[in-house]
Formats: sequence, structure tokens, C-alpha cells
Amino acid sequence: MRCRFCGSKDVEVHLRMYNLRLCRADFVSFVKKRVSYAIEKFRLFREGEEVVVAVSGGKDSLGLLHILHDLGWNVSGYFLDLGIEGASDVAKRVIEGFSKRFAIPVHIESLVDVFGWPIPEVARRLRRPACSLCGTLKRYYMNRFALGKVLATGHTMFDEAGTLLANVLQWKVSYLSRQSPKLSEEEGFARKVKPLVFVTERETAMYCFFQGIDYVESPCPLSKGATSRVFKRHLLALEEDMPGTIIRFLKGFYSARKQITFPEEERQGLSPCRNCGYPTSAGDLCAVCRMKAKLESSPA
Ligand code: SF4
Ligand code: ZN
Repeated sequence: MRCRFCGSKDVEVHLRMYNLRLCRADFVSFVKKRVSYAIEKFRLFREGEEVVVAVSGGKDSLGLLHILHDLGWNVSGYFLDLGIEGASDVAKRVIEGFSKRFAIPVHIESLVDVFGWPIPEVARRLRRPACSLCGTLKRYYMNRFALGKVLATGHTMFDEAGTLLANVLQWKVSYLSRQSPKLSEEEGFARKVKPLVFVTERETAMYCFFQGIDYVESPCPLSKGATSRVFKRHLLALEEDMPGTIIRFLKGFYSARKQITFPEEERQGLSPCRNCGYPTSAGDLCAVCRMKAKLESSPA
């Protein structure tokens, strides 16, 4: 078997989804082309715009930052140190090493500095699961940093297909009407984009390996029991039995969506938080300022 693109005998990758065998160099340019294709197809961003990639230290976000930089986009990274003992320090070290090695700037912010408490303590004091609180805080601080720029996240094909499957199984029509690799900017919100929507996690792992990118392999120690993993596991099993199913599912949805008439959504009115100005529909304080107020009044 030879590389489909250059004919070399040094085939290192077999992508069953496309029935494609590739050498290392052609695989790397194939992944970059998938990213460029998504950027063009969904008009994620244009020349001259500043893109910020939210990095966690994992293969997807670091791979994405490397790809966009290599493709010549005006890009930098943003890392929010969540203060999770052990895991956050390891991620920070990996990201600092990446930034230095590839000369790509990454802005690092600590949740303790900007919010006052690390995630495990927030969850313990408020007696709520860490992930929902963490999601709210990450969205808030990432958005704050990326305002006026474009915020890119490392969600991959199976993340996006998993969300689609979950929304279909529960017929969440309003979520389906909005599901897209691009959420346009609005007053107080940065544009959010997912350039890896046509790239799989296996591909980002191979990309990082071939480019010599170190990344954190272990999942967040607080992630146990996330339902998104269940959907992903089933999608992976489907893909294993019928290669190409997932990309058809996702692409089919994006083109079918144009023909579906979704009911007009009653948009909840947003007004600025009286404390920090972040747009909120939940009263006069946003979710983060309410969280802060509760923490200040809760026992240590
Ligand atoms: Fe935060 Fe949960 Fe993700 Fe860990 S798994 S980073 S706690 S959202
Ligand atoms: Zn606020």
C-alpha cells in the first residue's frame, strides 16, 4: 500500500473514515486542510482577526493552536488555571513548555487570582458538582479575555456529534436550531468557533505525536461520570462498525438544517450584570457574581 497523495511506501496512517492511507507528511497537511475547510465553510474568521485558542493542556486544544499558528493565522492561547491539585500544575508546565518551544504566546490566568477560590473549593463549599460550576466559570473568564477577538475551542468531530446525538435523543429543538461550529459575537460575547469540527481526537493525537507536541494525557480528575463520554463511547462503537457514519451524521445535519424551519425562539432578554457588566438573563447579578456572593457568605 502506498500513500494516496505522494505514492511513498512509508504509509504511517490509515484513516478508515476516508479509506485513506497516508505518509506522515501528507497526514499532517491533510489535518491542516480539514481545519482550513471548516474555517472557510462556516466562515469562522477572516484575515486580520485575532484568534484566541482556549487551551487545557490536552492534545486537541494544543494541536489546534499549533495548526492555526502553522497556517499563518494571528493566534495566541489562553489558559485558565483552575487550581486542581496536581492536575493544574502539570497542565500549566506543559503549556509553558509548548509556548516556549513553538514561540506561540499563551496568556495564563489563575482562577484563585481572578475569582478568589480554586474549583475543588468552590464545589465543596457550594455542595454542587464541580463540572457545572467549572463550565460557568470557564465560559465567563474565557469570554472576558477574548472580547473583541475570536474564541476558538478544541471541540472535535466526536464532541460535536455527541452533542448532536444528545440533542436529537432528547429532541432539544432550540439547541438543535443553534448547534453550529460558529456562535456569532453579540453585545458582551466574543464569537465562539470550533475549527476542529471535521477532525477526530485520534487525528489530533497523531498530529501532536508527529509534530513533537507534548500534552497532558490523563483526564481531569474531577471529570468522573460525565454523560458526554457515554455518547462519545457509543459513537465510537458505531464508527468502528461503519466507518464514515459520524462525519455523514454531522455533515448531513449541517446541510439538512438549512431546510428545516425551526420554531421562532422567544429570546430571553439579556441585561448587564450590575456588578461586572456581563450579559445575564438571571436577574441583576450574573451567575459568576452570584456564585461569588454565595461563597463569601458560606462557611470555609
Ligand atoms: Fe472543569 Fe469538569 Fe472539565 Fe474538570 S472535567 S476541567 S472540573 S468541567
Ligand atoms: Zn457579574
